[in-house]
Amino acid sequence: MGDSVGLMRLSVWMHICAFGIILIGAPGVHAWSKEGHVMTCQIAQSLLEDDAAEAVRSLLPDYVNGDLSALCTWPDQIRHWYKYRWTSSLHFIDTPDKACTFDYSRDCHDPHGTEDMCVAGAIQNFTSQLMHYKQGSSDRRYNMTEALLFLSHFMGDIHQPLHVGFTSDEGGNTIQLRWYKHKSNLHHVWDREIILTAAKELYDRDVELFQEDIAKNVTDGIWSDMSSWGECDDLFSCPKKYAAESISLACKWGYKGVTPGETLAEKYFNSRLPIVTKRIAQGGVRLSMILNSVFGNHNQELSAPT
Ligand SMILES: [Zn+2]
Repeated sequence: MGDSVGLMRLSVWMHICAFGIILIGAPGVHAWSKEGHVMTCQIAQSLLEDDAAEAVRSLLPDYVNGDLSALCTWPDQIRHWYKYRWTSSLHFIDTPDKACTFDYSRDCHDPHGTEDMCVAGAIQNFTSQLMHYKQGSSDRRYNMTEALLFLSHFMGDIHQPLHVGFTSDEGGNTIQLRWYKHKSNLHHVWDREIILTAAKELYDRDVELFQEDIAKNVTDGIWSDMSSWGECDDLFSCPKKYAAESISLACKWGYKGVTPGETLAEKYFNSRLPIVTKRIAQGGVRLSMILNSVFGNHNQELSAPT
């Protein structure tokens, strides 16, 4: 119940922002890499049922030829533009240091304390906006294409464990260290370094081969718990579960044993790569579940809290 009210407030807030009131966002770099987002979106699109596939195709601009993944990084590209600065806190969640838990009412806000302004709140809001697609596109409060791109992007971000990180180190951004021979930081290791090292070491520098391999793992169902990934009784509370999983993984695998200034290499890479690939796949499976729900025939069973 409280969430419905919160969502309404977020929707209103987003529209106010869209009409030009500026929110001064906190600086900081938070972004699952281009490669991670592309993989999540490709997996999701491959799992769409007919109605959702058609809706997605019709919302995408012609120049991407129906390829959702071509625009899944768009929210990162525009987050610092004047018009979109209000979206910059929607890419992540800061949780209390060492708590290793996510509590929506405690943690889902921007640095100024504005409620619902975090990645879990954004997923709820854009899911709710997309529900209006089937109810007739006469609702001009919403830009459905933008809602689709934001939702697709944020479903990737919420699955990157360090996007739900500790407040004082900005999700690992301020933990400087070396990744093999070059300088990096813990957040970036999880955003991109592990993915690029996997491509380099295991796929002859070809990220596309890595992408194909993850897609094949999804098709083959190599994860024992995979059948439960897409389970969701309530589209508006499931993002909370995804965020809780991420901070738990961040504590167990991201921050664990890491000392600022040290060099992370094979040992860290080998033990964390399976987490990264699983989270990318989970993000894709769950994004397809949401899109199939909002664009498919089951939509009538869902109530949009707007
Ligand atoms: Zn992002």
